Amino acid sequence: MIKLCQENLCTGCWGCYDVCPKDAISMVPRSPMGDRHPVIDRKKCIECHLCENVCPILNPPKCKSPENSFASWANNSQIHIKSASGGIGSVLAKHFLNQGGVVYGCTSEGAEIRHIRIADLDEYVRIQGSKYVQSSIGKIYCQIKQDLIAGRRVLFIGTPCQVAALRKYLKKDYEQLLMVDLICHGVPSQYLFESHIRHIAGNKPVTTVKFRSEDGFCLNIISGSQSIYKNYVWKDRYTDVYFTAFLKSYTFRESCYTCPYAKSERVSDITIGDFWGLDKDIIKNYDIKDGVSVILPITPKGNGIIEELNSEISLVARPVEEAITGNSQLRHPSRKSFGCKIFRFFMSKGLSLKQSLYLSDSLLIPAYKLYNRIKK
Ligand SMILES: Cc1cc2nc3c(=O)[nH]c(=O)nc-3n(C[C@H](O)[C@H](O)[C@H](O)COP(=O)(O)OP(=O)(O)OC[C@H]3O[C@@H](n4cnc5c(N)ncnc54)[C@H](O)[C@@H]3O)c2cc1C
Ligand code: SF4
Ligand code: SF4
Ligand code: SF4
Repeated sequence: MIKLCQENLCTGCWGCYDVCPKDAISMVPRSPMGDRHPVIDRKKCIECHLCENVCPILNPPKCKSPENSFASWANNSQIHIKSASGGIGSVLAKHFLNQGGVVYGCTSEGAEIRHIRIADLDEYVRIQGSKYVQSSIGKIYCQIKQDLIAGRRVLFIGTPCQVAALRKYLKKDYEQLLMVDLICHGVPSQYLFESHIRHIAGNKPVTTVKFRSEDGFCLNIISGSQSIYKNYVWKDRYTDVYFTAFLKSYTFRESCYTCPYAKSERVSDITIGDFWGLDKDIIKNYDIKDGVSVILPITPKGNGIIEELNSEISLVARPVEEAITGNSQLRHPSRKSFGCKIFRFFMSKGLSLKQSLYLSDSLLIPAYKLYNRIKK
């Protein structure tokens, strides 16, 4: 009898789906949060156990501590401004494409967030920026293996659980493959996201959804070439229910609250994220247009690529401890707060995102007020 990992620990990495030689696995959304989980069609299954062996939760890959840490940002200001943070993901993508390599990253097609393969330089913009949704992998790991066997240079950028799955899927190191993971605090499901977008867009077709404008982080729904909804994360804080629940860490996949990759030891060649906790005095003399990234090269290959990028990015060496202290996801997973538990209880009773958020806030705000009064 085939037994995949425990449901609450399953990261939805798609490793088992990709490895199955009989296409016996489907990734099916589970209520109430809509996270996709593998379901085995017993009629198709030949009990080869490949899916169990590839699962990074059942068989965790080795992780390694970073030896160096850098504050960094793209020298090209257009790349910097349009990217999620310092634009390092985009610089890496351009670097690989320029050298004839292929890049795998996350895009938004309509309201669908998924990983794609790009091979043309102009296409790097398709994967630029963070999408705050779990990306569907589909058969991407199989495609990567084919590219590697064909001798192509490959860059994969994704969440740590996706990098872990790719590592397990490939079984061996390929010199021409670079794996980059994001520091990650958690992902809401495609189902929650798509329901929200559909609700706002109504009958209008959705061409793409962006999470970033030149003037800040936002949820920007584009139909044709027109923006039909734009809600800024900080300026309009707590007015878009999807972002509000996301910022409160209420809507993450169950596994994100016990994420095995939320630590300083990393599964990739290079880890990138936001350099929270950076001593700002260090960079005050630089003309920085936007956010500053942290780069943690993990393997010698990762270190080598950072050296190759020397003319395209600014690099300021910082103590590894500074990066770890400033970014909680390098120390522990996101916490499931009391409010989060109440919110998820209402979701499990079939209430909508908006209703669950409203009810959990209605209960929490008086409770906090009472608590503060008692404390005084
Ligand atoms: C869901 C999520 C949670 C995050 N949480 C944190 C955090 O807690 N702390 C922190 O320091 N940083 C976090 N990040 C990373 C941060 O937002 C930036 O993505 C990172 O700093 C890289 O910025 P950049 O400017 O170099 O990337 P860019 O040049 O803009 O490139 C972004 C890269 O991220 C990839 N990507 C985008 N969305 C996804 C996705 N949903 N799944 C997989 N890959 C994706 C794209 O393929 C692209 O290559 C998170 C990112 C995501 C997507
Ligand atoms: S045991 Fe083999 S055939 Fe069955 S679901 Fe797993 S990978 Fe597919
Ligand atoms: S391989 Fe990934 S998707 Fe499949 S059971 Fe394991 S964690 Fe879940
Ligand atoms: S928090 Fe962990 S389990 Fe959740 S998406 Fe990120 S890496 Fe995967």
